[in-house]
Amino acid sequence: MTYEDVKRIRERTTAEAVDSRALAKLIDEAVEKQIPKKVITKPIYICPNCGGRVEYLYCLFCGQKLDWGHKV
Ligand SMILES: [Zn+2]
Repeated sequence: MTYEDVKRIRERTTAEAVDSRALAKLIDEAVEKQIPKKVITKPIYICPNCGGRVEYLYCLFCGQKLDWGHKV
């Protein structure tokens, strides 16, 4: 889930309809993804969260922030 997904869900959620447990889970997931995780570098660069091929600071598939060590 990307931060755009969380934002979209948050904007649709009214105070009356809020499922606080589900919302807390979304927030936890979003915050967790802001903590850079080390990129898996063999044999290609792989997101440690979703297994997608990555080239940038964030995974384009799941939004995970990536720790490239000294590479970037
Ligand atoms: Zn990913």
